Amino acid sequence: MSVAFAAVAFAPGLAIGSFLNVIASRVPLRRSVSDGRSACMSCSHEIAAYDNIPLLSWVLLRGRCRHCQASIPVRYPVVELTTALLVAASVLRFGLTAEGVVASFFVVVLVAISAIDIEYRIVPNRIVVPAAVIVLVAQTILAPSPEWLLGAVGASGFLFVAALAYPKGMGMGDVKLAFLLGAMLGRSVTVGLMIGFLAALVPAAVLAVRHGSKARKIAVPFAPFLAFGAIVALFAGEAVLDWYLGILG
Ligand SMILES: [Zn+2]
Repeated sequence: MSVAFAAVAFAPGLAIGSFLNVIASRVPLRRSVSDGRSACMSCSHEIAAYDNIPLLSWVLLRGRCRHCQASIPVRYPVVELTTALLVAASVLRFGLTAEGVVASFFVVVLVAISAIDIEYRIVPNRIVVPAAVIVLVAQTILAPSPEWLLGAVGASGFLFVAALAYPKGMGMGDVKLAFLLGAMLGRSVTVGLMIGFLAALVPAAVLAVRHGSKARKIAVPFAPFLAFGAIVALFAGEAVLDWYLGILG
């Protein structure tokens, strides 16, 4: 039954992903996300509804504007597909429940923040701050416990110290993102942060091999790695923690 729900959730997931692309293009430029139809960034031609179908239009147009042939960034179909898969996975894991809704909201926010950080190297306050408040309140109502607030404060405190120690690699945006992760994941945020930091070592190592000492000057966006760790922790955090505590015990 939940597989059917998850399959049904895929389509609205694509639509949400399409909206995230609008957010990712407009929020960093401080433009409104609600007014004005989508237009080609290159020729300003308004995009017709039949050319604005998530995933499908990009494939049919072979990634080019119908009017000026300017290439449409691969970010568009990637964001749409990733969002749809993660929303479907959230519904599959948590069902059509309040938990499933909060988890879906959480993964959607992570996709938006990652897309913006990759393109603009910022974690926008306008997204991360309200999302963190919403998730903290929702989690505390759904499962009353200080765990969510403690997770949020602990994770953001850890990132704050890391950002002081390594100011080029992390910023205050990552600290606020960690607050969001802790509010959602509670104690499992330890798993999310650990996987996020480990994953971020991969590009650091690749850059060091390719560019040697100059690699230190190349900025790598950190939010997508934190988001990746958080998503692993959301779906498998409890299992990883049990396994780890089992080894210790
Ligand atoms: Zn165009």
